[in-house]
Amino acid sequence: MRVNGAGLVQLINRYAEVVAENRTYLIELDSAIGDADHGENLDRGLKAAVAKLEEVAPTAPSDVLKTVATTLISKVGGAAGPLYGTAFLRASAAVQGKPELEASDIVAALRAAQDGLVARGKAEPGDKTMVDAWGPALTAAEGALLAGSDAVGVLAAAADAAEAGMRATVPLVARKGRASYLGPRSAGHQDPGATSTALLFRTMADLAAT
Ligand code: ADP
Ligand code: MG
Ligand code: MG
Repeated sequence: MRVNGAGLVQLINRYAEVVAENRTYLIELDSAIGDADHGENLDRGLKAAVAKLEEVAPTAPSDVLKTVATTLISKVGGAAGPLYGTAFLRASAAVQGKPELEASDIVAALRAAQDGLVARGKAEPGDKTMVDAWGPALTAAEGALLAGSDAVGVLAAAADAAEAGMRATVPLVARKGRASYLGPRSAGHQDPGATSTALLFRTMADLAAT
């Protein structure tokens, strides 16, 4: 399987639907350890990205990802907008000039996205952030690629690992973002950003499998 720009537009459209379906859930998670806006922030940002993609109609993978990045950065307040925006921007740069992405390109884009997330947010593994879903997902994707998996297998492995990483945020004490203000009281709750990241990876895997 190869992914072109239209495939990435389809991904963003589908992720926007998934986020809308999970808006209340993400808000509930953020109300426990944050300020109850993660579902709202992402829903607004993805809806804006869908509208912008329709207006600009980019065709190259890199241009699709860049349009999403700039929209998220400009339209979403809070931590998650700039973080996801930076991830998409780095992914865009990683696939510059490629009309279609194969498994190794997808993994390179995911690696670049994570590097962007970490450069921007300075979170380390175990800080109870979206990095705790993204990191395991990337490790699993790289492992699956090395083992000879195609894009479908790579993304399925990544989605499973992202969900495991998401669940593993529950006992953690937050050391970054708003949840860190709660100190030890942040333990016992699943991180909202790790949850939206796991949803993103599951959306990629589901689309790749169809
Ligand atoms: P805000 O906290 O500004 O209201 P959101 O609620 O949209 O923003 O996003 C909160 C999520 O952002 C957290 O659940 C966490 O996963 C993620 N996050 C916060 N700070 C960081 C950081 N420094 N690095 C990575 N992720 C972070
Ligand atoms: Mg919030
Ligand atoms: Mg907020």
